[in-house]
Parts: sequence; structure tokens; C-alpha cells
Amino acid sequence: MKCDVVQDLLPSYADGLTSEESNREIEKHLKTCEKCSKYYREMTGEVPEILPKADVTDAALIVGMRKKRKKVLIAAAFAVIILAAALVWTFTGYSMGSRNVLSSDVKLSYGLKENGAYLELTPKGGELEFNGMTENIEDSSGNIIGTRTYLKALSFRKGLFVKGSMGWENEMAGDAYICEWVLEFSDKTITIRNGELISEENISSSEQN
Ligand SMILES: [Zn+2]
Repeated sequence: MKCDVVQDLLPSYADGLTSEESNREIEKHLKTCEKCSKYYREMTGEVPEILPKADVTDAALIVGMRKKRKKVLIAAAFAVIILAAALVWTFTGYSMGSRNVLSSDVKLSYGLKENGAYLELTPKGGELEFNGMTENIEDSSGNIIGTRTYLKALSFRKGLFVKGSMGWENEMAGDAYICEWVLEFSDKTITIRNGELISEENISSSEQN
């Protein structure tokens, strides 16, 4: 039997539709013809007994990828845990810490430099909100002899990052010019004049809100 004839008959043979005589001829041919037996194996989907080398490499690759994937998953899990912790930290900080500002929430630094008086406010572990207003200081004749700036501390939020550090400078501060900063916290009012602390008034608890 010729190869093309065998290959024509193979579908019928696989379905058991060929005669016994044909079967014998086909089987005899398949035993001796590698081309037709390969064709038959492919047609019936029979898996070759020995895996080609490429498949072994693929298998090793898949194992490698699984290991890599596992590492990525572990890293991702850690990232999620850290992110969750940061969120909880921030949320509790915000919900519990958003309140009136105590003078102890802020690190104050003030003084005189060659370019005048300065004042610096740094929140301790959180975020500050201030409101400012400046007015002129006049003598009895109505001459402007300085400025007074009211800084009202509005809110303090504990948080991950220290934000809202503020600084002021006044070059005119000196013997002839008054530069006053009045810091209004919920527990006390602090007045700084020309780089010096001149008063610290406690506010009674009934006035706090
Ligand atoms: Zn053949």
C-alpha cells in the first residue's frame, strides 16, 4: 500500500470502518512507515511516550515562574500590610487628633537676628492650621509705632508627617519699632515682642472650647 492511500484510509481505520483486510494492510504499513505512523498518532492525539527535551525545559521554567510568582505575592502581601497600617495610623491620628491646639503641640522659637525679629512655629508630629491678622500699633498721637500680628491656632492633627511649619520675620523690629506676635492657643496666649517673650496668659478651662 502506498502512503497516500494509507493516509486516506486512516480516518476510517481510526473509526473502525475499514475492512479486516484493509486493517491488516494498514497495520503492516504503519509498523514499517514512520511517516504514516506519526501521521496516525497525530490524528488520534496519542501522546508520544518520550517527552521532547523542550517540554522538560518548559516544566523547569514553569517551576521557576511559580517560585518567582510566590516571591512577588509575598512582597505584595507585605506592601498591603504596611499600607493598611499606615492608613490605620493616619485615620486614628486624624480622628483623634484633630482638635484645638495646645501650646505644647508646637515648638516655638523666636529671637532677634541681624535682619530683625523672627518667630518660628513647628508642630510636634502633626499638622497645624493657623489664622493670622495684623494690625498697626499707634501711639497716643496716632503715629504708627509698630505692628501686632495675631496668630490664632485653629487645629492640630496628629499625623504621619510634620506639616505646616511656619516662620515670620520683621526687619523693622527694634528700639523705634514694635513688632509683636500674639499667639492664641486653646490653653494660653503667648505674646512675643521684638523677639522676646513678654507674656504668657493661661486661659481658664471654662473659656476653652
Ligand atoms: Zn507510509
